Amino acid sequence: MSKEIINRKVMIIGGGVTGLAAALSLDSLGIESVIIEKHSVLGGKVKEYSKVFPDFRSGKAISRELIEKVEQSSRIKTIVSATVSKVERINGAYSVTTTDKKQYKVKAIILAAGFDVFDARFQEEYGYGVYPNVVNSLELEALLEAGETKGGVLLRPSDGKLVNRMAIIFCVGSRSRRLGNPYCSRICCSYSTKQAIEIMEKNPEASVTCFYMDIRTYDRGFEEMFQYAQELGVKYIRGRVSECSALPNGDIQVRAENTLLGKPVQGIFDIVSLSVGMMPCADAADLAQILGIERSADGFFTPKDKFFLPHDTIREGVFIAGSLTGLKPIKDCLLEGNAVGSRVAAYLNDNK
Ligand code: SF4
Repeated sequence: MSKEIINRKVMIIGGGVTGLAAALSLDSLGIESVIIEKHSVLGGKVKEYSKVFPDFRSGKAISRELIEKVEQSSRIKTIVSATVSKVERINGAYSVTTTDKKQYKVKAIILAAGFDVFDARFQEEYGYGVYPNVVNSLELEALLEAGETKGGVLLRPSDGKLVNRMAIIFCVGSRSRRLGNPYCSRICCSYSTKQAIEIMEKNPEASVTCFYMDIRTYDRGFEEMFQYAQELGVKYIRGRVSECSALPNGDIQVRAENTLLGKPVQGIFDIVSLSVGMMPCADAADLAQILGIERSADGFFTPKDKFFLPHDTIREGVFIAGSLTGLKPIKDCLLEGNAVGSRVAAYLNDNK
């Protein structure tokens, strides 16, 4: 193992928007940090969203702006394609060993490792992973972005056909005790509605049908976005989809029950998008064990006190922020990144 010891004050695990915002918050207070990101690039999931709600700005642009600021700072060091493998408390500081066999001595650690999306193959009735024209919401974002270069139209994966009939199925992998995810993912009603608006605005000939359990567009501007979608003609059917099946020409037949009318419904669509829910990041259990901090039964990390110490954990000097404490919109992750930076600055001040 390299004997390199870099005496940085704060280690931030996770280079998504929360971790980047935390580093910039610390930087503004004159505090050095090192961000460690397991993927090969910084920016997290946000860079995969062609546009984000409620103001339809580019997710890539948000990530890029943060990354550029981080890269301009002499107080922030970044490491990619690595994560932490061991953490030891020594004389009031932490010695962190990373998977690229380096050691860092830091005074505090911020865990901002984010979330993963539900793997829709576990809901076999939708045919995800079997039918090419059944995609998940992140894949739909990529298709929408690819369509930008072709005049904004949406082309389906199997044969490049222009999408005129689209179905979006909400609550995939969320609100299901059977799947072990009883919670609401909070943001999928809103991002799916944003996607429906994008499709309808760019192709007035298109029809978009959303199959939902409940509509939960709870934040400022989100309900107005939902109303605007309905004005554009997006159809909302309250019902559970029982099956998606592919027709020989690649179209997807959707069968559902309209639970408001108590009647079965079905339709044929060019493409179906699954609004997959969010889950704790895949390495959450390992990180909890390495850091010695707690998670709740749903797998998300638990703060020391939800109301008064939302970023502290049971382990002194280890802090948490972002979607690993529960799912939230991007702007709330940025707020938490800023907040945890301030909280850690106060902690360092108290523990000089
Ligand atoms: Fe379902 Fe909407 Fe909650 Fe997502 S936000 S889990 S789509 S109710």
